[in-house]
Amino acid sequence: MSAANDNDKKARPCPICGEPMVMKYRPFCSKHCADVDLGRWLKGTYAIPAVEPPDEFEAEAALREAAQRPSGGEED
Ligand SMILES: [Zn+2]
Repeated sequence: MSAANDNDKKARPCPICGEPMVMKYRPFCSKHCADVDLGRWLKGTYAIPAVEPPDEFEAEAALREAAQRPSGGEED
C-alpha cells in the first residue's frame, strides 16, 4: 500500500496561473508567476502603514511636556 506516497509526487498547480509547478520556482511555474505573487504581496504591505495619522498621540505628548514644566517664573 503506497497510496500516501503517491500523493506526494503529484505536482501542485501554480497558484497564479494554474500551470504545473516547477521545482525551481515552487510553488510557482515560472519566475514570472513568482514575481506576480511578490508584487501582490508588496502592494498589500505598502497599503497598510499609511492609515494611522499620529496627530492625537503628538498632541497628548505635547500636553504632557507642558505639564512637566515648572509654571512659576522663579528665575525672572
Ligand atoms: Zn504560473
